[in-house]
Amino acid sequence: MAKKGGKKTKKKEGESKYAYKKKTAWEIFTKDQIKKAFDFCEGYKKFLDTAKTERETIKFIEESAKKSGKKVIVNRSKEAAVIVNGKKPLEEGLHLVISHVDSPRLDLKQIPLYEDKSSNLALLETHYYGGIKKFQWVVIPLALHGVIIRKDGKKVEFNIGEDEGDPVFTVPDLLPHLSHKVQDQKRLDEAISGESLDIVFGNRPIEGEFADKIKEMILDILHKKYGIVEEDFISAEIEAVPAMKARDVGMDQSMIGAYGQDDRACVYTSLQAILDTKNPEYTAVCLFVDKEEIGSEGNTAAQVVTFIRSIIHELDPDANIDKVMLNSKVISADVNSAVTPNYTEVFELKNASTLGHGVVLSKFTGHGGKYSANDSSAEYVAEIKNMLNKAKIPWQAAEIGKVDMGGGGTVAKYFSRLGMDVIDLGPPVLSMHSPYEVTSKVDIYSSYLAYREFLKS
Ligand code: MN
Ligand code: MN
Repeated sequence: MAKKGGKKTKKKEGESKYAYKKKTAWEIFTKDQIKKAFDFCEGYKKFLDTAKTERETIKFIEESAKKSGKKVIVNRSKEAAVIVNGKKPLEEGLHLVISHVDSPRLDLKQIPLYEDKSSNLALLETHYYGGIKKFQWVVIPLALHGVIIRKDGKKVEFNIGEDEGDPVFTVPDLLPHLSHKVQDQKRLDEAISGESLDIVFGNRPIEGEFADKIKEMILDILHKKYGIVEEDFISAEIEAVPAMKARDVGMDQSMIGAYGQDDRACVYTSLQAILDTKNPEYTAVCLFVDKEEIGSEGNTAAQVVTFIRSIIHELDPDANIDKVMLNSKVISADVNSAVTPNYTEVFELKNASTLGHGVVLSKFTGHGGKYSANDSSAEYVAEIKNMLNKAKIPWQAAEIGKVDMGGGGTVAKYFSRLGMDVIDLGPPVLSMHSPYEVTSKVDIYSSYLAYREFLKS
């Protein structure tokens, strides 16, 4: 039997001395630790309600780091690094924890606002961002978050739908009485089209002689409130996100339901971990990247290495950057797919993660024959596994689903390309990429403990 943390347990009759036995975090944690996990998650829920977009998340990171006197570098309001200098020279490598700040959502198109005469409504055109199941995004309350750069260059920040008195927005869906032919007989992924994800934005006409009176009323309100005109939407980034707040889930209040836990679960836990890091052996860095959900492309994303290179240069202009990277160790902090009840056929259950078993260690991701994966070395897996065992942090080993069932990737491969040792480590999530993702409080706390342990070493 694999012992966690070297604790000697008395073997029962017939129990193997050598077989690997998975234990839940609820069994491994002490009562005091479980209480700490619940307390920790109160802060986590507040964070999830505050940071629903990549910009809001980076702002939260920057403010938190500054408040606790940590070095923070921000790239274009969408990528950030929090750094704590280590005792060893930089060329011995960094200890990096990397998570992503973006989540799937509905983005507004550049010319979004129109009036639909047939329904007598003003609506907003959207183009969804990341991998969503479109039918999950209709008939739920949505909030609009974002920025508009006006003609005069002024940046207007938007956040409508989160406060009690705010209006919310919603994508309408057809009533069951009439959906038989146009939806019910179609495939699930075709029943709701991308172009049909338009958001209801207004119904009241303005007085006067205008061609589009409802749209004109909206433009009038927007101008009075924000000083914007329709053309300003072209230079804007506005995101429709679920207007729901983070809540406890379950009669035992053991879980959390909220939007954006992929990957803000890892953002929050790694941020708290580095804020608690003092005098580490190796220089500790938490890197928060954008655009993971659309392939890590772009100047604030993981594929662009200029940001990490510039950080290394800033920390020590004399350091050989390649040497630093070759000696660096990375945790790719991203969530894993938890076994979903009623759909267990897509998981190979021995190698799948479940809620409540702690942080998930994934040697590789990818799809179809490990294609497009970072496949971590046995040596590095052993190092991380031993670190977790020694600190008695609950963990489980898993991959995303059955072989050839599907798959997915993380930022891991972009950093292994730089010569770094990389492994995926993050909490399991139920209903991933949906407007209401579910995590277990003990897994969130296990992730925090794991990142803290790694960063301080
Ligand atoms: Mn993710
Ligand atoms: Mn994702």
